[in-house]
Amino acid sequence: MKSVYIHIPFCQKICSYCDFCKMFYDSKWSKAYLKRLNEEIDNHYLGEEIRTLYIGGGTPSCLSLEETEFLLKITKKFSKMKNIEFTFECNLEDLTLEKLKLLKFYNVTRLSIGIQSFQPHLLDLMGRKHDFKDAQAKINLARSLGFTNISLDLMYGFYNQTIKDLKEDLKLFLKLNPEHLSTYSLKIGDHTLLKVNKIPEIDEDTDAKMYEIICAYLKKHKFIHYEVSNFAKKGKESIHNLVYWNNEEYYGFGLSASGYIDNVRYTNVLNLKDYLNDDRKSEEILLTTKDKMDYELILGLRKLQGINVNKFKEKYEIALEDAYPIKPLLKNKELQQKKEYIFIPEDKIYIMNEILLKMI
Ligand code: SF4
Repeated sequence: MKSVYIHIPFCQKICSYCDFCKMFYDSKWSKAYLKRLNEEIDNHYLGEEIRTLYIGGGTPSCLSLEETEFLLKITKKFSKMKNIEFTFECNLEDLTLEKLKLLKFYNVTRLSIGIQSFQPHLLDLMGRKHDFKDAQAKINLARSLGFTNISLDLMYGFYNQTIKDLKEDLKLFLKLNPEHLSTYSLKIGDHTLLKVNKIPEIDEDTDAKMYEIICAYLKKHKFIHYEVSNFAKKGKESIHNLVYWNNEEYYGFGLSASGYIDNVRYTNVLNLKDYLNDDRKSEEILLTTKDKMDYELILGLRKLQGINVNKFKEKYEIALEDAYPIKPLLKNKELQQKKEYIFIPEDKIYIMNEILLKMI
């Protein structure tokens, strides 16, 4: 079974921190884009049973009702679409009764909502506009239609954010009773408005302290910290994202989407005109066994549960400890082992990259 990611690159507004592949929504382009997306899926999807479906962006929810229905009808092509995790990324302002009903009708089971913060000075800096009341009303509306799996995005690490701001955000986010929280530490990418406006980065110590506060607060409120930046109520971990972290295969459809099929990791073109002209991939890499093992390690250790050493050996016919120098790391407690799992302990997960560098 494979998973499917579909990228919708359009947004009504461009956030100052955004480094994703996105562009302003324009119905002239969105219609052509959806048509092309439909063709791409027809040309490349081989009809296998699908494990999870994720429509992300950009902002998929900014499409018109008619376009949203066209997009959702496309998803009917995927086999066994009932009762699978089907995530749709949304912004609050797009969540109207009609749109939510449409999503429900086409079996969307999970909403991932980009809220980021409720602090007015941070929203100003991000170029986003909403308040707690908006969020509460929209989430109540979604709940009333039967959405029982809602994930919220929370951002932190702004130079003008205080610990008090963060704690206030955490409190407000949990008041919305989400099943899942994805947290993002702000990194100012080169092609962002924040960079152009020379907005400074937060210092590393404050960033680390904020991360610590988030982990402790969510743990105290019964969220499971299951991946470096992701937290879920029991049984509500993102099955789709676990496909990535378990190094399993998935299709990526749409502009700039990445996929991993038949040992090939690929990325679609980044230029809209190229994409509309059928120039589908900008990069294709056939992985060697060593590459696959590296991915297994880099992605697998993002999970707090870590890597199953028995499964690793079964898959690659070599023990993890023979493939990578893990013994010294186990000795100095940068790695730990519990039964068949090797993992980075929670108090060291913040320096995961340094630990990985010692192994690869
Ligand atoms: S953060 Fe999301 S909504 Fe904002 S510009 Fe980027 S893709 Fe669009």
